Amino acid sequence: MKLVRRGELFAEYSLGDAIVIALSDGYAMMRFNCLIGVDFSNPDFAPKVNEEFALPVQAFLVKTSGQSILIDTGSSSAWRDTTGRLYDAMAEAGIARDAVTTVAITHTHVDHINGLVMPNDEIAFPNASQIFVSSNEHALFKAESRLSPVFAALRPVQDGDTIIDGITAMAAHGHEIGHTAYWVTSKNEQLLIWGDIVHKPDLQFEHPEIVWEFDTDRDAARQTRKRFFERVAREQVPVAGAHLDFPGIGSLQVKGTGYSFKSLI
Ligand SMILES: [Zn+2]
Repeated sequence: MKLVRRGELFAEYSLGDAIVIALSDGYAMMRFNCLIGVDFSNPDFAPKVNEEFALPVQAFLVKTSGQSILIDTGSSSAWRDTTGRLYDAMAEAGIARDAVTTVAITHTHVDHINGLVMPNDEIAFPNASQIFVSSNEHALFKAESRLSPVFAALRPVQDGDTIIDGITAMAAHGHEIGHTAYWVTSKNEQLLIWGDIVHKPDLQFEHPEIVWEFDTDRDAARQTRKRFFERVAREQVPVAGAHLDFPGIGSLQVKGTGYSFKSLI
């Protein structure tokens, strides 16, 4: 996988015959004490207990097999003033919204699904005839009434399903009940687009046991994170993460009892 070009809000990579473009949706300030398992009696962390940090938000566009698949969509106008920049990122990268042919969602939280509908209630990706969401989360998706214009395009996805040739869904449950990662293969190259496996890279690679207040099933989230870390480090498969530091793509190495992450920029 190689960086081809980048701008302020996007970074484009080659992956075999495919193109992968990281798109920034902006960032959200989050409370440090959303992280559970951090020892706030430790002098390194004690001062941070009441601090906030910037959580970056990315979506990823994959061009492969003649299609353009958007994995996650940012938050449009549904979350913060500092998020909802996906459309600007696409414009900067030269990608028309109507070029997106398929959408696949990692999970139904605010910062992943709301970009499907623009702030003016228009459908953001009018030619995306299929929106893949884990069957476990269709009810959660349909609870988001501002997304009603796209309800008819909703399609179920389960572990092992092929979205299109070269992209396979992998169950990654824990952060949410249907949290799903997408394994991309082109020629002899691979990439794991893993959604919300990590929220605080500077802590969770070294300490995978640290969880996030918004993990629906914290034990499962922890186990899934450890399983994914172990596999991608062993197989040296690069990863793309929604909340890794922009552009959110890189690789893992074993370091002591945890891992380290090297961004591909
Ligand atoms: Zn998220």
